[in-house]
Amino acid sequence: MNHFEYRQNTLHCENVALSSLAAEFGTPLYVYSTATLERHWRVFDHAFRDIPHLICYSVKANSNLAILRLFANLESGFDIVSGGELARVLRVSGDPAKVVFSGVGKTVDEIRQALSYDILCFNVESEEELRTISAVALAEGKRAPISLRVNPDVDAKTHAYISTGLKTTKFGIPIRDATEIYDLARSLPAIDVRGIDCHIGSQLLEIEPFVESLRHVLDLLRALRAQGFQLSVLDIGGGLGIPYTDESPPDPQQYADAMCKELEGWNVQVLLEPGRVIVGNAGILLTRVLYWKSNEDKHFVVVDAGMNDAMRPAMYGARHNIVPVELNPQAVEFMVDVVGPICESADFLGKCRKMPKMMQGELLAMMTSGAYGFSMASNYNSRPRAAEVLVNGGVAYCVRQRETIDSLFSLEAIPPFLS
Ligand SMILES: *Cc1c(COP(=O)(O)O)cnc(C)c1O
Repeated sequence: MNHFEYRQNTLHCENVALSSLAAEFGTPLYVYSTATLERHWRVFDHAFRDIPHLICYSVKANSNLAILRLFANLESGFDIVSGGELARVLRVSGDPAKVVFSGVGKTVDEIRQALSYDILCFNVESEEELRTISAVALAEGKRAPISLRVNPDVDAKTHAYISTGLKTTKFGIPIRDATEIYDLARSLPAIDVRGIDCHIGSQLLEIEPFVESLRHVLDLLRALRAQGFQLSVLDIGGGLGIPYTDESPPDPQQYADAMCKELEGWNVQVLLEPGRVIVGNAGILLTRVLYWKSNEDKHFVVVDAGMNDAMRPAMYGARHNIVPVELNPQAVEFMVDVVGPICESADFLGKCRKMPKMMQGELLAMMTSGAYGFSMASNYNSRPRAAEVLVNGGVAYCVRQRETIDSLFSLEAIPPFLS
């Protein structure tokens, strides 16, 4: 359920017509719905009401400060993967005591920064990282709370680029080696072993891989407790999928029911790292039609948003619904590719889509773009990144200005010998 719907044949975000947003803020434009963001966070949180838990929203899915503030106001925790993401959480007065730090490549500076704010937990992905965290903590006179991110070698049955729980990926520590590394962790001077962490991938459409990996993790928890480890948190990651076109993923309650059934009686605080399922359906990318062109075989709608604005189709072959903002139910439909202005054949937003003939200046909405949309955007082809707007009821707020050409050059310099 989300708050994007047609009213009198014009697509609205809550009570605001997308056409008026395009007129006011220009295109391409990311548009987010406050009511949807809040609803999705609450639904996910409520689904786990029967067990002690903490939602640590995965910041990388959408890291706009306004959206992070909205979640901070709901007393959310956060899952970060860089010092920059930690700085964002702090900027919106998020509680560092509810922050977990994931990622295979934490730098010494980032570790020091996270220690200084006393985050909830480091999710450690290798033996060398563990030794480094201990050394940094020792030097700082701190103790570092850690979980090991274990890799259960479970097939998440999702796209290879977003599958992280197989032993062929760079993520985590093979679950078979885990007890050895836990022993090491216990022997290091500045490490507090807190729990176990696991995240097997993203856009999962079935419950079974989650259950299977959780069972492996609980086997490990049992074994570690038998060896005297005091483990109080279990981080079961994120990854629940959402409907982009015709997928039918489990809903958050079905997912929670399956997880809670396994977790009953274990006496742990469960950490959850949802990203996409919270923000995906809460945002769209609004784009204007530049040209319609046809050759013998195909029609193309060339729009003003490209793969630099929305990377998922080019990177994962992802399919998003793309719909006209003004609906004309009588119009004849054509089979078209929706393509961007960038000089790459991978620069498409959608292929083989049915839609009416689009005229110059008309608007299209790329649906379900709230997750991994703006947060993956780049300046490729020297394109300023899009503006972002947050709608609340009948009012729209610009939450990130459109970049300017000057801002693109601001960090570059021509050395004297060239001038
Ligand atoms: C990306 C990521 C998430 C969020 O994944 P979603 O599919 O957006 O829910 C959670 N945890 C970790 C460690 C991640 O890398």
